[in-house]
Order: sequence, then structure tokens, then C-alpha cells
Amino acid sequence: MNITIATLGELLVEFLAKKENQGFLAPGEFWGPYPSGAPAIFADQVAKLGFPVLLFSCVGNDAFGEMNIARLKRDGVNVQGISVLPHANTGSAFVSYRTQAQRDFIFNMPNSACGQLNADHLDETLLRQCNHFHIMGSSLFSFRLIDAVRKAIGIVKENQGSISFDPNIRKEMLNIREMSQAFEYILDYTDFFLPSDGELDYFGLNKSGDEGEIVERLLKRGIKHVIVKRGPQGASYYAQHEQHHVAGYPVEVVDPTGAGDCFGATFVSLFLAGYSVPDALAYANASGSLAISHRGPMEGTSTLAEIEALMAQRCRSV
Ligand code: ATP
Ligand code: MG
Repeated sequence: MNITIATLGELLVEFLAKKENQGFLAPGEFWGPYPSGAPAIFADQVAKLGFPVLLFSCVGNDAFGEMNIARLKRDGVNVQGISVLPHANTGSAFVSYRTQAQRDFIFNMPNSACGQLNADHLDETLLRQCNHFHIMGSSLFSFRLIDAVRKAIGIVKENQGSISFDPNIRKEMLNIREMSQAFEYILDYTDFFLPSDGELDYFGLNKSGDEGEIVERLLKRGIKHVIVKRGPQGASYYAQHEQHHVAGYPVEVVDPTGAGDCFGATFVSLFLAGYSVPDALAYANASGSLAISHRGPMEGTSTLAEIEALMAQRCRSV
């Protein structure tokens, strides 16, 4: 099947604290700027696999915006949907790790260029070329963005397309009320749901339960594919009458940010391209583990050949 994937949301630069527990309360050294933004990393990973992909976003007329656009273009993302705003700066994020699994962010997004993205920025002619739309929960931080997501869902569904949704919850954003309301709406249209295991409770539909029970309720609600990401423990796939599980690769963790975005991009694009579920899951698992082996959130996106090289290495070692 010919696929063209679209996504929208934050496009920003990220600065990464050099030391664990460095925090933001005292001066310290940072690496960066790195191209970043969950939907942008997703798009970059889809493009590296060789599939057509469009990112809708906004940047400022500044060097951070220029760098982001140049990187996405280099990797094959269609950047026609990225608007350069004359009176805003490109978004930014600062991240400091406490442990490998816990991190704190300071986001400059709502007041940045990508925070101004709204439904009017979505070119309908471009969107009508797409038969899949991916939503990142981290992009739902304003009414404007939520409106844009609704518009994109409408157009892609009209085009008989499918929808994927990664809640990508950031604790810094959970108090945004619009966001939790938008989650409910989006779930009604979701074909591929890609939460982390730690996010599942949030989607328990107001009932407690173990993973199996929560997933069953989500499938009953009409979601066709639920894929649970488990960091170093790999991932699981659930459908009505099917389940598959993969164990994580034993890799050195350099920077875990972006693993989920690469995983999701690889699973969704390969599945839509006709790979079997176990194959799409195995490739996504390898793609997620390659992402964490590189410093910088978008530095770890990989080509099919790089993913297959890692998978071949694993086969030789077992
Ligand atoms: P993020 O939002 O930070 O990008 P996430 O919480 O959405 O991440 P994770 O579960 O952290 O997603 O990672 C996605 C996938 O990447 C995992 O399911 C696994 O396949 C791979 N992965 C992540 N961390 C590791 C790790 N430490 N070792 C091996 N594989 C990993
Ligand atoms: Mg994530």
C-alpha cells in the first residue's frame, strides 16, 4: 500500500544537562542545541525508513528554526507544512536526568512559534495527500493545537486513512485541562494506540485493573491495535485475538529521550507498508534501542539498514 503519513506539533531545540541530577537551580553545562519535538522525531524516523511524511509546525525566523528545518529536510521529511513566523522564536526545552528513567523538563513551548500553530496553518491540499495521521499527546498543550488536531483527524478519516496516538505524557503538562479532554476525543478515532506501560493507568477508563484488563477495555472501546512500550523490557502488541511480546535489547543507555517516538514511527510505518505484526514489532524494538544509544533526541533515528544490522547482530549472538 502507498502510504503518506502526517503529524503535527512541537518543533523545538533541546538542551541536555551534562550531569545527572544537575537540575536547573544553579549554573551548569548543557549539550545542545539539538533538533527536537516528539512529532518532529517521529517524522524524521518515518522519513529515514524511506516513507513520505509531512510535519506541520511553526518555527521562528531564527537559527534554531533554520537548523530544525535543515535537519528534517536532509532526512527526507516534507517541510512544506512548517511555517516560519516573523514575530516568534523557535521553541526550546531543557532536560536534566535524575536517573536513566526520570527526568525534569523546562519547556518554552506555549509562548514559542510552535505554540502558535493552529488549524489555519494546515494546508488542506497537503493533508488530503495523507492516509495516516499520528498524534503526540505532548502536542496538545493549547486549544489552538487541539483544534488543528481535530481538523487533521477529520480530513485524514475522510480520506479513509488511519490514526495513531502516543499519549507521551509529560508530568509538567498534566495540569493542562484541555489536554485530558482532548485525550478522550482522540481515543474515539484511534486505530493504533501506543502508550508506555507507566501511562496505562491513566487510560484505565476510571477503573483500576492490571495491564490485561485495561488493554481489553481499550480494545472493546474500538481501538484496533494497542502497543505498550516498556523501556528496557521491550514492548507488547495487543489486538482482539492476538498478542506478541518482544524483549528489549541489552544496550548502553546514552539518552533515552526519543526512543518512544522512533519506536512508534517504525511500528506504524512498517505495519502500514505491509509488514507482519511480529516483524513490525521487532523492527520498532530495535529502532527504539538504537535511539537511546545516541545523545540528543533526534540523533538516534535510523535507516532500515541500520535497524536490520542490529537485528542481525542479535540473531548471531543467540
Ligand atoms: P519517550 O517518550 O521518552 O520517547 P517512551 O516512554 O514513549 O519514551 P520507551 O518505553 O522508553 O518509550 O521506549 C520505547 C521503546 O524503545 C521500548 O519499547 C524499547 O523497544 C526501546 N527502549 C527504550 N529504552 C530502552 C532500553 N533502556 N533498552 C533497550 N530498549 C529500550
Ligand atoms: Mg513517549
